[in-house]
Amino acid sequence: MAGLVIDERDQEFVLFDMLKIPGVFSGMEAYREYTKELIEMTLRSAGNMARKVIYPTLMESDREGCRLEKGEVHVPRCFHDAKKKFIEGGWHLAAVPAESGGQGFPYALHVALSEGFIHNFSFYAYIYLSIGAARLIDRHGSAAQKKKYMEKMYSGLWGGCMALTEPEAGSDVGSLKTRAVRRLDGSFRITGTKIFITGADSDLYENIIIPVLARIEGDPPGTGGISIFLVPKYIVNDDGSLGKRNDYVISSLEHKMGLRASSTCMINFGDGGDCYGELLFEERKGMRVMFELINSSRVGVGLQGLGTAGAAYLQALNYARERKQGPDLMNFKNPDSPRVPIIEHPDVRRMLLWMKSHVEGMRALIYFCGFCFDMARTAGSADEKEKWEGFLEVLTPVCKAYCSDTGFRVTEYAMQVFGGYGYCQDHPIEQFMRDLKAASLYEGTNGIQALDLIGRKIGMKGGRYFINLLGEMNSTMAAYSGDEALRDIRDDLKSAVDLLGETAGFFARCGKEGNFFVPVTNAYPFLTMMGTVTMAWLLFWQSGAASEKLRGLYERHHIPADNKNATAPFISENSEAAFLEGKIISARYFIKNVLPAADSLARGIKSGDLSVMDICDESFGL
Ligand SMILES: Cc1cc2nc3c(=O)[nH]c(=O)nc-3n(C[C@H](O)[C@H](O)[C@H](O)COP(=O)(O)OP(=O)(O)OC[C@H]3O[C@@H](n4cnc5c(N)ncnc54)[C@H](O)[C@@H]3O)c2cc1C
Repeated sequence: MAGLVIDERDQEFVLFDMLKIPGVFSGMEAYREYTKELIEMTLRSAGNMARKVIYPTLMESDREGCRLEKGEVHVPRCFHDAKKKFIEGGWHLAAVPAESGGQGFPYALHVALSEGFIHNFSFYAYIYLSIGAARLIDRHGSAAQKKKYMEKMYSGLWGGCMALTEPEAGSDVGSLKTRAVRRLDGSFRITGTKIFITGADSDLYENIIIPVLARIEGDPPGTGGISIFLVPKYIVNDDGSLGKRNDYVISSLEHKMGLRASSTCMINFGDGGDCYGELLFEERKGMRVMFELINSSRVGVGLQGLGTAGAAYLQALNYARERKQGPDLMNFKNPDSPRVPIIEHPDVRRMLLWMKSHVEGMRALIYFCGFCFDMARTAGSADEKEKWEGFLEVLTPVCKAYCSDTGFRVTEYAMQVFGGYGYCQDHPIEQFMRDLKAASLYEGTNGIQALDLIGRKIGMKGGRYFINLLGEMNSTMAAYSGDEALRDIRDDLKSAVDLLGETAGFFARCGKEGNFFVPVTNAYPFLTMMGTVTMAWLLFWQSGAASEKLRGLYERHHIPADNKNATAPFISENSEAAFLEGKIISARYFIKNVLPAADSLARGIKSGDLSVMDICDESFGL
């Protein structure tokens, strides 16, 4: 199974055939140089890094885990060499703008290449969070802070993380208790406890800069009173050298179900009364600053769902082709008939196609979000910019919650394909499952994402962003309206898109009538419905692009497209035709077999049933 982590063929299909990126980018000043050849070369090279450097550390690092010794965190030994190669390759700077010394890749390309790295989230998080913290300083720090911290963080010498959570402030960040006291020299002294902080300490970096959310003494309660501070592990001297150890301790490491090679730290700040911190940006603007990082991290968590699920699918597929069990269906009663690879069994095929269609849909969703970011960034007018930003706003909670939960289910199906061997540690499947579960919890639990979707995102700008997204879905259907072979699934998709709009309208009416418990208790079912319809749209889009390409291929090979006896052998012999046919079938499978769930979800939502609120606490049981 060595290195089965990424399907570059499908990545290229999404970027080139669906989003038509080189063509779109060719008209943009910022991205003109991103030709098909350059993108292909970059993906190949990222794929090599993923397969040859990162994947080999996956299981070894899980076995070794992290250690806390004398207040210092030691990460698995194999991470040191992997980090060195990763930094030498410049991959950590992929999304950092060129003006800041980075590669300045388009975001769509950045998510595509990161897909191969993120299946080993324990490893990737050390890098990803460090660069995320550096980006905060880049965008909001003073010139002195950039010089003092950011440059070394971008160079890969110093690390970073993000410290929000406290024992009594998880989802409810606004009730945090960490305090900041102002000193005459303009610096602050921090006291408090943060928990669950990923990568707060490690021996991968010489120094670690922790962006900490805290409240300045006297500032109001709630999120509006929160500021953000840079708290370095070692105080930095004026000449840039490392000074004394700051007054905080890593008091423990969490013992987790998965992500065991990622250090999840409890930090006690200022037990000695002298924990140095510097204000980043303005006072009481901490949540605004942090939210920039959180929003892109939410798409990043969706990517984690995709990357892990994608690797689990490829490994399950490979296993299903190799593992032999039982005769095929037609010879079931003959004990002498040859044993066949399990991929021949209909139930295994069902699981594989379920995984394939979900992985491909998630890939399309996340890359589309990356594309929206690029389009907004380079938009020529305010209206254009708002259109792409609007898609991104409404899709971010869906990306985060739908892809983390669905990705987890893909790993579960992968285990089912592996049978008992998947449950054992000989294969990484059980680790993928353990590692991915946390993605439903951090960066705002999936329940909180659903509330954000219905409480804020759907109604944003008077509902315009959401309506524009539905309009985009309808435009895709119109673009492929001439393809008769797709008529059936197009009709199904059209009904589902209309139903999604109607259900959002139903929520709006409930709100107006004061029935706000109906939308609130149904936020998660609505998010699932929206995720399902969005995936169906993107898969339909892919099937339209694939069908067009396949017709061209038939023409070039003089194969009559409407004669199954001619197309079937061609498809099994020609790998490009097989791939394209696989895309069309993925979409058909999803729309015929998964999309109907949108109907039942809408039915439940529109029933207005409030059992969830009617049941009293005591009636839940013991
Ligand atoms: C592996 C791991 C790594 C992490 N890394 C970091 C990190 O680097 N930095 C950091 O700051 N934090 C980190 N966290 C913390 C993470 O962000 C929190 O666990 C998360 O925000 C949830 O908080 P909580 O655990 O206190 O759960 P709670 O907030 O107690 O939630 C428990 C349940 O109640 C629900 N709930 C809570 N409030 C509401 C509400 N108002 N309405 C509806 N439902 C609600 C939640 O959805 C959830 O289902 C990490 C966590 C884990 C597990």
